[in-house]
Amino acid sequence: MATFIVMLGPPGVGKGTQAKTLAEKTGLAHVSSGDLFREHIKNQTELGKLAKSYLDRGDLVPDDVTIGMIRERLGRVDCRVGAILDGFPRTTVQAEALETMLKDFDGQVDKVPYITAAESILVERASGRLTCRANGHIYHQKFNPPAKEGICDEDGSQLYQREDDKVETVTNRIRVYIEQTMPLVDHYRRGGRLIEIDGSQSVERVTEELLESLEQTGK
Ligand code: ADP
Ligand code: ADP
Repeated sequence: MATFIVMLGPPGVGKGTQAKTLAEKTGLAHVSSGDLFREHIKNQTELGKLAKSYLDRGDLVPDDVTIGMIRERLGRVDCRVGAILDGFPRTTVQAEALETMLKDFDGQVDKVPYITAAESILVERASGRLTCRANGHIYHQKFNPPAKEGICDEDGSQLYQREDDKVETVTNRIRVYIEQTMPLVDHYRRGGRLIEIDGSQSVERVTEELLESLEQTGK
């Protein structure tokens, strides 16, 4: 049966950073809904045109559009053994749709790392984030700067500040998270799949805790 890991936590806490490392260590695909939307926007697809205004405001893209996009992505061959889901699901409707989808793919949500930190840390992290144009590699002006200013260490592409990483938009995203995504914490806790991780620690320490807890619980 295919293994799916859902990364849960507020914007800016470090889900993407950790998901990339986990994907490398486990061999599972990294599926980031935010990256997929940004890819569609860059390529000016119909979906991208529809999603853009939501991303710009820091609001959630409607469930049906998001679910359709993820279903298509999870149907690709690199997800056959499973994936690290980063940024999906973000609503109860999406979580239910995921359960249905995974039945079709003969998979299940195995574990749900829930990474948290104080709001001041989230704002500081998100507002200093630098993102790579080509592949979405993640840096931070202060906490994880690239070797050469403005250039991605891994693929040499340009780094930019996401439009939605301005402080006002980050604050809205945190509000949206509290209202629409927090209910998923209880949903997964009830199912016994939640792993709580203190995200205020260093990147390395968070990775260690994640790997330890995933191993302990058999994955
Ligand atoms: P998310 O996907 O949850 O929004 P990211 O992984 O993109 O979060 O991280 C947000 C920002 O914080 C990035 O600039 C990243 O480099 C930085 N970051 C991530 N984890 C840590 C950490 N443990 N300590 C300091 N900075 C971090
Ligand atoms: P972060 O990593 O900082 O939480 P993401 O890159 O995951 O940000 O998401 C950026 C934006 O993409 C969100 O503010 C939202 O507009 C849209 N988005 C991403 N995932 C979803 C989702 N599962 N449902 C609806 N909208 C989403």
